[in-house]
Amino acid sequence: MSARTPLMAGNWKSNLNHHEAVVLVQKLAWTLSDKKHDYAKSEVVVIPPFTDLRSVQTLVDGDRLQIRYGAQDVSQHDGGAYTGEISAAMLAKLGCSYVVVGHSERREYHAETDEVVNAKTVKTLAAGMTPIVCVGEGLDVRQAGEHVAYTLGQIDGSLAGLDAEQVAGLVIAYEPVWAIGTGEVATPEDAQEVCAAIRGRLAETWGDDTAASTRILYGGSVKAANVAAIMAKPDVDGALVGGASLQAEEFAAIARFY
Ligand code: PEP
Repeated sequence: MSARTPLMAGNWKSNLNHHEAVVLVQKLAWTLSDKKHDYAKSEVVVIPPFTDLRSVQTLVDGDRLQIRYGAQDVSQHDGGAYTGEISAAMLAKLGCSYVVVGHSERREYHAETDEVVNAKTVKTLAAGMTPIVCVGEGLDVRQAGEHVAYTLGQIDGSLAGLDAEQVAGLVIAYEPVWAIGTGEVATPEDAQEVCAAIRGRLAETWGDDTAASTRILYGGSVKAANVAAIMAKPDVDGALVGGASLQAEEFAAIARFY
Protein backbone atom coordinates (compact mmCIF):
# COMPACT_ATOMS: atom_id res chain seq x y z
CA MET A 1 0.00 0.00 0.00
CA SER A 2 1.21 3.53 -0.68
CA ALA A 3 1.66 5.80 2.32
CA ARG A 4 -1.64 7.57 1.69
CA THR A 5 -3.96 4.76 0.60
CA PRO A 6 -7.49 6.20 0.88
CA LEU A 7 -9.14 5.17 4.12
CA MET A 8 -12.89 4.85 4.73
CA ALA A 9 -13.65 4.41 8.42
CA GLY A 10 -17.19 3.80 9.69
CA ASN A 11 -17.82 5.09 13.22
CA TRP A 12 -20.90 3.22 14.47
CA LYS A 13 -21.05 5.32 17.65
CA SER A 14 -23.34 3.80 20.34
CA ASN A 15 -25.30 1.64 17.88
CA LEU A 16 -25.67 -2.13 17.26
CA ASN A 17 -25.22 -4.99 19.71
CA HIS A 18 -22.77 -7.82 18.97
CA HIS A 19 -25.32 -9.88 17.00
CA GLU A 20 -26.19 -6.88 14.83
CA ALA A 21 -22.49 -6.11 14.41
CA VAL A 22 -21.81 -9.53 12.89
CA VAL A 23 -24.72 -9.13 10.47
CA LEU A 24 -23.51 -5.71 9.33
CA VAL A 25 -19.88 -6.78 8.84
CA GLN A 26 -20.99 -9.89 6.93
CA LYS A 27 -23.25 -7.81 4.66
CA LEU A 28 -20.50 -5.25 4.12
CA ALA A 29 -17.90 -7.90 3.29
CA TRP A 30 -20.31 -9.68 0.94
CA THR A 31 -21.28 -6.46 -0.85
CA LEU A 32 -17.66 -5.43 -1.31
CA SER A 33 -16.70 -8.86 -2.56
CA ASP A 34 -19.68 -8.97 -4.94
CA LYS A 35 -18.57 -5.66 -6.42
CA LYS A 36 -14.94 -6.81 -6.56
CA HIS A 37 -13.76 -4.04 -4.27
CA ASP A 38 -10.05 -3.31 -4.54
CA TYR A 39 -8.81 -2.84 -0.98
CA ALA A 40 -5.56 -1.37 -2.32
CA LYS A 41 -7.65 1.52 -3.70
CA SER A 42 -9.49 2.12 -0.44
CA GLU A 43 -8.99 0.57 2.95
CA VAL A 44 -12.25 -0.27 4.75
CA VAL A 45 -12.45 0.00 8.54
CA VAL A 46 -15.37 -0.48 10.93
CA ILE A 47 -15.36 1.15 14.35
CA PRO A 48 -18.00 -0.61 16.49
CA PRO A 49 -18.74 -0.16 20.21
CA PHE A 50 -16.30 -1.94 22.57
CA THR A 51 -18.84 -4.68 23.31
CA ASP A 52 -18.88 -5.77 19.64
CA LEU A 53 -15.14 -6.00 19.10
CA ARG A 54 -14.64 -9.63 20.10
CA SER A 55 -17.42 -10.77 17.74
CA VAL A 56 -16.05 -8.67 14.90
CA GLN A 57 -12.56 -10.06 15.54
CA THR A 58 -13.84 -13.64 15.39
CA LEU A 59 -15.65 -12.99 12.11
CA VAL A 60 -12.79 -11.10 10.45
CA ASP A 61 -10.22 -13.71 11.49
CA GLY A 62 -12.41 -16.72 10.77
CA ASP A 63 -13.43 -15.59 7.30
CA ARG A 64 -10.07 -13.93 6.56
CA LEU A 65 -11.85 -10.67 5.71
CA GLN A 66 -9.84 -7.71 4.46
CA ILE A 67 -12.02 -5.33 6.44
CA ARG A 68 -10.13 -3.93 9.42
CA TYR A 69 -11.60 -2.69 12.67
CA GLY A 70 -10.92 -0.36 15.53
CA ALA A 71 -12.29 1.22 18.70
CA GLN A 72 -14.07 4.51 19.34
CA ASP A 73 -12.01 5.52 22.36
CA VAL A 74 -9.21 4.33 24.65
CA SER A 75 -8.07 5.01 28.19
CA GLN A 76 -5.29 7.50 28.75
CA HIS A 77 -4.03 5.12 31.47
CA ASP A 78 -2.15 1.85 31.09
CA GLY A 79 -4.63 -0.15 33.16
CA GLY A 80 -5.24 -0.85 36.84
CA ALA A 81 -7.61 0.99 39.16
CA TYR A 82 -9.60 2.92 36.52
CA THR A 83 -13.12 1.49 36.70
CA GLY A 84 -14.84 1.36 33.33
CA GLU A 85 -11.75 2.21 31.29
CA ILE A 86 -10.48 0.12 28.36
CA SER A 87 -6.71 0.20 27.90
CA ALA A 88 -4.78 0.34 24.64
CA ALA A 89 -3.21 -3.05 25.42
CA MET A 90 -6.69 -4.62 25.67
CA LEU A 91 -7.66 -3.20 22.27
CA ALA A 92 -4.41 -4.31 20.64
CA LYS A 93 -4.97 -7.82 22.02
CA LEU A 94 -8.40 -7.83 20.32
CA GLY A 95 -6.72 -7.14 16.97
CA CYS A 96 -7.78 -3.51 16.64
CA SER A 97 -5.82 -1.65 13.97
CA TYR A 98 -7.24 1.81 14.70
CA VAL A 99 -8.52 3.87 17.62
CA VAL A 100 -10.60 7.04 17.21
CA VAL A 101 -9.24 9.64 19.60
CA GLY A 102 -10.79 12.99 20.48
CA HIS A 103 -14.04 12.64 18.55
CA SER A 104 -16.04 15.84 18.99
CA GLU A 105 -18.68 13.93 20.95
CA ARG A 106 -15.97 12.85 23.45
CA ARG A 107 -14.60 16.38 23.57
CA GLU A 108 -18.09 17.85 24.14
CA TYR A 109 -19.85 15.31 26.39
CA HIS A 110 -16.81 14.01 28.28
CA ALA A 111 -14.83 17.25 28.46
CA GLU A 112 -11.81 15.76 26.69
CA THR A 113 -9.13 18.40 26.29
CA ASP A 114 -6.26 18.42 23.80
CA GLU A 115 -4.04 17.18 26.66
CA VAL A 116 -6.25 14.13 27.19
CA VAL A 117 -6.41 13.53 23.43
CA ASN A 118 -2.62 13.76 23.33
CA ALA A 119 -2.24 11.20 26.14
CA LYS A 120 -4.65 8.80 24.39
CA THR A 121 -2.80 9.24 21.09
CA VAL A 122 0.50 8.37 22.75
CA LYS A 123 -0.98 5.24 24.40
CA THR A 124 -2.51 4.09 21.11
CA LEU A 125 0.78 4.46 19.23
CA ALA A 126 2.74 2.74 22.00
CA ALA A 127 0.40 -0.26 21.74
CA GLY A 128 1.09 -0.54 17.99
CA MET A 129 -2.28 0.76 16.76
CA THR A 130 -3.07 3.77 14.57
CA PRO A 131 -4.85 6.69 16.20
CA ILE A 132 -7.46 8.56 14.17
CA VAL A 133 -7.14 11.95 15.84
CA CYS A 134 -10.26 14.09 15.40
CA VAL A 135 -10.24 17.86 15.16
CA GLY A 136 -12.71 20.44 13.91
CA GLU A 137 -14.57 23.59 14.79
CA GLY A 138 -18.10 24.28 16.00
CA LEU A 139 -20.58 26.51 14.21
CA ASP A 140 -19.75 29.63 16.25
CA VAL A 141 -16.06 29.36 15.35
CA ARG A 142 -16.88 28.79 11.68
CA GLN A 143 -19.20 31.80 11.62
CA ALA A 144 -16.48 33.93 13.20
CA GLY A 145 -14.15 32.87 10.35
CA GLU A 146 -11.67 31.35 12.82
CA HIS A 147 -12.00 27.70 11.75
CA VAL A 148 -8.47 27.29 10.39
CA ALA A 149 -6.71 28.81 13.40
CA TYR A 150 -8.94 26.90 15.83
CA THR A 151 -8.36 23.55 14.12
CA LEU A 152 -4.60 24.10 13.89
CA GLY A 153 -4.60 24.88 17.62
CA GLN A 154 -6.20 21.46 18.22
CA ILE A 155 -3.52 19.85 16.02
CA ASP A 156 -0.74 21.54 18.00
CA GLY A 157 -2.23 20.44 21.33
CA SER A 158 -3.31 16.94 20.35
CA LEU A 159 0.00 16.02 18.69
CA ALA A 160 2.35 17.87 21.08
CA GLY A 161 5.59 16.04 21.78
CA LEU A 162 5.19 13.41 19.05
CA ASP A 163 8.10 12.79 16.72
CA ALA A 164 7.96 12.83 12.91
CA GLU A 165 7.73 9.06 12.62
CA GLN A 166 4.78 8.92 15.00
CA VAL A 167 2.94 11.69 13.14
CA ALA A 168 3.54 10.04 9.75
CA GLY A 169 1.96 6.87 11.17
CA LEU A 170 -1.25 8.38 12.48
CA VAL A 171 -4.44 9.53 10.80
CA ILE A 172 -6.09 12.91 11.31
CA ALA A 173 -9.81 13.40 10.79
CA TYR A 174 -11.04 16.93 10.13
CA GLU A 175 -14.67 16.98 11.21
CA PRO A 176 -16.42 20.34 11.39
CA VAL A 177 -18.81 19.78 14.30
CA TRP A 178 -21.67 21.59 12.55
CA ALA A 179 -21.56 18.98 9.77
CA ILE A 180 -21.69 15.86 11.98
CA GLY A 181 -25.01 14.03 11.94
CA THR A 182 -26.78 17.14 10.65
CA GLY A 183 -26.98 16.37 6.93
CA GLU A 184 -25.06 19.64 6.53
CA VAL A 185 -21.94 18.79 4.49
CA ALA A 186 -18.99 21.12 4.22
CA THR A 187 -18.34 21.81 0.55
CA PRO A 188 -15.38 19.97 -0.98
CA GLU A 189 -13.63 23.36 -1.04
CA ASP A 190 -14.29 23.86 2.70
CA ALA A 191 -12.86 20.41 3.41
CA GLN A 192 -9.82 21.05 1.21
CA GLU A 193 -9.14 24.45 2.81
CA VAL A 194 -8.76 23.00 6.31
CA CYS A 195 -7.15 19.69 5.30
CA ALA A 196 -4.52 21.65 3.33
CA ALA A 197 -3.93 23.94 6.31
CA ILE A 198 -3.47 20.88 8.55
CA ARG A 199 -0.96 19.41 6.11
CA GLY A 200 0.84 22.75 6.05
CA ARG A 201 1.07 22.72 9.84
CA LEU A 202 2.43 19.15 9.79
CA ALA A 203 5.09 20.30 7.31
CA GLU A 204 6.07 23.29 9.46
CA THR A 205 6.35 21.25 12.64
CA TRP A 206 7.48 17.80 11.47
CA GLY A 207 8.83 18.37 7.94
CA ASP A 208 7.64 17.89 4.37
CA ASP A 209 8.12 14.11 4.25
CA THR A 210 5.92 13.62 7.30
CA ALA A 211 3.26 15.94 5.92
CA ALA A 212 3.30 14.05 2.62
CA SER A 213 2.81 10.70 4.40
CA THR A 214 0.08 11.49 6.94
CA ARG A 215 -3.47 10.64 5.96
CA ILE A 216 -6.06 13.35 6.58
CA LEU A 217 -9.72 12.37 6.45
CA TYR A 218 -12.83 14.51 6.17
CA GLY A 219 -15.88 13.69 8.27
CA GLY A 220 -19.36 15.16 8.42
CA SER A 221 -22.46 13.75 6.70
CA VAL A 222 -20.44 11.86 4.05
CA LYS A 223 -22.63 9.69 1.81
CA ALA A 224 -22.26 7.74 -1.42
CA ALA A 225 -23.71 10.73 -3.26
CA ASN A 226 -21.09 13.25 -2.10
CA VAL A 227 -17.97 11.20 -1.40
CA ALA A 228 -16.42 11.37 -4.89
CA ALA A 229 -16.39 15.18 -4.97
CA ILE A 230 -14.78 15.32 -1.52
CA MET A 231 -12.21 12.64 -2.41
CA ALA A 232 -11.27 14.57 -5.56
CA LYS A 233 -9.60 17.19 -3.36
CA PRO A 234 -5.84 16.71 -3.14
CA ASP A 235 -5.46 16.91 0.64
CA VAL A 236 -8.40 14.65 1.52
CA ASP A 237 -7.29 11.03 1.92
CA GLY A 238 -10.51 9.42 3.05
CA ALA A 239 -13.58 9.84 5.22
CA LEU A 240 -14.72 9.22 8.77
CA VAL A 241 -18.34 8.24 8.31
CA GLY A 242 -21.01 8.10 11.02
CA GLY A 243 -24.66 7.50 10.11
CA ALA A 244 -24.03 6.19 6.59
CA SER A 245 -21.69 3.47 7.90
CA LEU A 246 -24.62 1.69 9.56
CA GLN A 247 -25.97 0.62 6.15
CA ALA A 248 -23.84 -1.98 4.41
CA GLU A 249 -24.70 -1.02 0.84
CA GLU A 250 -24.28 2.70 1.45
CA PHE A 251 -20.95 2.28 3.23
CA ALA A 252 -19.73 -0.13 0.53
CA ALA A 253 -20.62 2.49 -2.09
CA ILE A 254 -18.67 5.11 -0.11
CA ALA A 255 -15.66 2.78 0.03
CA ARG A 256 -15.98 2.34 -3.72
CA PHE A 257 -15.78 6.08 -4.45
CA TYR A 258 -12.96 5.54 -6.98
C1 PEP B 1 -18.86 11.14 12.81
O1 PEP B 1 -19.49 10.72 13.74
O2 PEP B 1 -17.61 11.17 12.91
C2 PEP B 1 -19.56 11.60 11.62
C3 PEP B 1 -18.86 12.16 10.67
O3 PEP B 1 -20.92 11.39 11.58
P1 PEP B 1 -21.90 11.60 10.30
O4 PEP B 1 -21.25 10.96 9.12
O5 PEP B 1 -23.18 10.94 10.70
O6 PEP B 1 -22.04 13.08 10.11
